[in-house]
Amino acid sequence: MLTPQLTRRDGALFYENVALESVADRFGSPCYVYSRAAIEANFLAYVEGFAALNPLICYAVKANSNLSVLSILAEHGAGFDIVSMGELKRVIAAGGDPAKVIFSGVAKRAEEIEFALRQRIYCFNIESESELHRVNAVASEMGERARITFRINPDVDPKTHPYISTGLKSNKFGVAHGEALRLYRLAASMPGIEVHGIECHIGSQITELSPFVDALRRLLSLVDQLADRGIAIAHLDIGGGRGIVYDDEKLAPMSLFAEAVARELGDRNLKLLLEPGRSIVGDAGLLLTRVEFLKPGETKNFAIVDAGMNDLLRPTLYDAFHPVLSVQDHPGNALTYDVVGPVCESGDWLAKDRKLVLNEGDTLAVLCAGAYGMVMASNYNTRGRAAEVLIEDDEMHLVRERETFDDLIAHERIVK
Ligand SMILES: *Cc1c(COP(=O)(O)O)cnc(C)c1O
Repeated sequence: MLTPQLTRRDGALFYENVALESVADRFGSPCYVYSRAAIEANFLAYVEGFAALNPLICYAVKANSNLSVLSILAEHGAGFDIVSMGELKRVIAAGGDPAKVIFSGVAKRAEEIEFALRQRIYCFNIESESELHRVNAVASEMGERARITFRINPDVDPKTHPYISTGLKSNKFGVAHGEALRLYRLAASMPGIEVHGIECHIGSQITELSPFVDALRRLLSLVDQLADRGIAIAHLDIGGGRGIVYDDEKLAPMSLFAEAVARELGDRNLKLLLEPGRSIVGDAGLLLTRVEFLKPGETKNFAIVDAGMNDLLRPTLYDAFHPVLSVQDHPGNALTYDVVGPVCESGDWLAKDRKLVLNEGDTLAVLCAGAYGMVMASNYNTRGRAAEVLIEDDEMHLVRERETFDDLIAHERIVK
């Protein structure tokens, strides 16, 4: 499970050229740790894999919205896929270019639409007829025209976890494939709307190519039908959703993915957009946590650690697998443990049935926690959210301070 950035040297786990034990010593635990080199390598894999198509790669901010992460990607010319005004403000604060921002999400509020129009973002991805009317109304009021794409629900099965599959008829996302022609005609007739693109995003942690190809074909047939009706589409956005290796998943190589997309596009004159999130940051981050207690049980051994479901929700939310490693190898007998947190919920677990050699006080690294980790953290049980640290070669930088008790109660009032 080790990567080019994560290595073991004399039994000690290193991220780039920093010993992870020293990160926990300096910044405490639990603590999210990201590798700049890994983030850059993941982004460049898209740039290089898709070089022949020269796409706009819009990183999905919701996967990990730390300002330093956004800033690294902005430095490399990334665009951004946002789902709220807050995410747009983060992109701007991190030095990202609003002209490369696409605005997704099923419930954009009028003030969010107005703010995004004022920032001159690239495009709004429209998810319903009502939303089209709202965007038209806000843009018309401002004397503007909003560029739009419809997010099409292609009704394909991404073969992933039901909570992260988004392109089936039964999902809340996008407009039905069968409604698309009518909606594009309606949009083309609106004074505040400029029809620009077509988009789909069918789910997350997709490891096979066939769901992407199926969805792409459904979209391209619409592009051709729209062209026949005099509606020209300038860009095609195939969403995000590419998986990463958490365990033993077999991933279709990036080169094959890019080739398949190029083959389907053929000689159509379409600008390509991509919206990767997980595949940029997922394996570029980990969660450090310390073992508080070892608790032998009649049927199970528990390693009770200082990170819980409020820090990393994915295991209990999706039944997700994250590899767990000891930060410092030491001799001893491996036992099988459930790694569980301090939160008062039976669902508060990080890993099940792992063979580990553990002592109380040991530090563990929960791998592949860079995406949908910190962004889903909560203050449940009045626990401050973890610190975040960025590794750059042999340096460690605190990129988000651990929340204090004062932070947690800052907006509360006692009514007497
Ligand atoms: C979440 C999301 C993405 C990113 O998905 P990943 O699986 O993290 O790549 C892209 N586009 C939209 C519209 C999304 O909602």
